[in-house]
Amino acid sequence: MGKRVVIALGGNAILRPNQEATFENQLANVKTSTDLIAEVKKAGHKVVVTHGNGPQVGNILRQNEEAKAFVPPLPIDVCSAESQGFIGYMMEQTLKNALKLADVKGEVVTLLTETEVDAKDPAFLEPTKPIGVFFTEEEANELEKSKGWVMAEDAGRGYRRVVPSPQPVKIHGVSAIKALIEMDTVVISTGGGGIPVVADEKGFLKGVEAVIDKDRSALRLSEQVDADVFMILTDVPNVYLNYGQPDQLKLEGISLADANKYMAEGHFADGSMGPKMEAAIAFAAQGKESIICSLDEAVAALRGEAGTRVLPA
Ligand code: ADP
Ligand code: MG
Repeated sequence: MGKRVVIALGGNAILRPNQEATFENQLANVKTSTDLIAEVKKAGHKVVVTHGNGPQVGNILRQNEEAKAFVPPLPIDVCSAESQGFIGYMMEQTLKNALKLADVKGEVVTLLTETEVDAKDPAFLEPTKPIGVFFTEEEANELEKSKGWVMAEDAGRGYRRVVPSPQPVKIHGVSAIKALIEMDTVVISTGGGGIPVVADEKGFLKGVEAVIDKDRSALRLSEQVDADVFMILTDVPNVYLNYGQPDQLKLEGISLADANKYMAEGHFADGSMGPKMEAAIAFAAQGKESIICSLDEAVAALRGEAGTRVLPA
C-alpha cells in the first residue's frame, strides 16, 4: 500500500561541507538525492519533498552584501524566496529526469511557499540565528546604527547579523499541495523552512526578516498534509545514544516513550539532531511514524528495515 510521505532533505543533500558552491556541484548532489526520491515514488508512495537552504541563502546574502554599491540589497525573506526557487529548480528538473529514466508516471512541481509565524513569537525579542557574512567590530557597530540589525560575535571569527528563528505556525498553500498529491504529482515545498511571513489582525501578509528551522517547518507540513510518514533524511544512517563516544548505540525502531526519555537525557545535540528528534517525536505523538535515516536507506527505512524509526506505541 502506498503511503503519503513527507521527505525533508538536509543541507548535505545540496552542498557538502568544504565543497565549492558551483551550480554543477550542487546539481550533481541534488541529482543523487532525487534519484533516491524517484525510488520512493516508484515504490508506490505519494511524495512531498522539502529541504534546507543554509549555505545557499548564505551565499545569496553574501552576493547582496558584496554588490551593494551597484544593486540595492534585498531583505532576507526575498533571499529565502530566491533560494527556494533555485533549489526547487534543481530538484524539479533532476527528479523529472529520474522518473522518466525509471519509467514512473507523474508530474513534479515546485511551490514557492510562505510559512506564517506569529508576530508575537518571543523569538522576535531575542534574535539568535547567525546569518550571512562576517563583519569587523566597527562595521558591526555601524550596521547596528544604520540598519537596526542585531549583531553578535561568532566564535572569535568576527561579527554576524543574528535574526529571529520563530516557530512555524502555518504552511500556506496546503490545499493545493493535497490536490496535487492526489493527482500523483510530487510536490517540492517549504524549502529552507519557507518564506517567513506574518499576518496582521485582518489576515494581510507581510514578509519578515527571520529564518525558520527547516525540521520544524517540515513537521508542520507533514501535519497539515496528513502525511502517514514523516522522513528526515540526513548524513547519518541512524540516531545514536552517546553519539560519537566509544559506547555509541544505534537506535532502530523505538517507542515514543523511549524517544522522549532519550531526549530528556540530552543525547541529541542542539542545532543538529535535537530539532530533528523533537520534530520526529511530535509527529509520532499524533499516532504516526517518523523516520530519521540517510538518503540511500530511505526505501529500506520505509519498509522498516533501516534508519531510526520513532513509533507511536
Ligand atoms: P542536516 O543538514 O541534515 O539538517 P545536521 O548537521 O543539522 O544535518 O544534523 C545531522 C548531524 O547531527 C549528524 O551529522 C551528526 O553529526 C549530528 N548528531 C548530533 N547528535 C546526534 C545523535 N545523537 N545521533 C546521530 N547524529 C547526531
Ligand atoms: Mg540542520
